[in-house]
Amino acid sequence: MTDHDYPTGPLATGDIDSDSPFTLPGFFDALTDGRLLAGVCTDCGEHLLPPRPACYGCGSRAVTIEEQPRRGLVETFTEVYRPPSAFADLAPFPVAVVELDSGARLTGRVDADAADIEIGSAVELAVRDPVAEGIDPDAALSYEDGWPLHVFEPA
Ligand SMILES: [Zn+2]
Repeated sequence: MTDHDYPTGPLATGDIDSDSPFTLPGFFDALTDGRLLAGVCTDCGEHLLPPRPACYGCGSRAVTIEEQPRRGLVETFTEVYRPPSAFADLAPFPVAVVELDSGARLTGRVDADAADIEIGSAVELAVRDPVAEGIDPDAALSYEDGWPLHVFEPA
């Protein structure tokens, strides 16, 4: 665990502002700092990644924020040939659904040739600066400005 104070459910609507990890800006702020956060439902155990204030497994609002491990296994993947324009120079590239060691699932690009990964491959999450990756910053939506890029690397 960390020394961060994360809010826990049940939450009222007024308890959530844009800095909360239950919002995408709050989630990406934490990711920029190297913390991958998920909501975990204390009623059914579902992982909500990115966090949501209510469980999409059972509807409970008893959701806590927990930092997630970066390592996991490829559960399934596909290869993207026609990505959004900002990622055109990277295509083709694999995108995988990864089950993290906690059981949470996260979808992301894999920085590898599709021929070199398979279901069950071990990967680790990396957080990168989009500009350093050659991603056109003008392609980001206004509210995405400053959000980091997440990518899985073979582990
Ligand atoms: Zn639940």
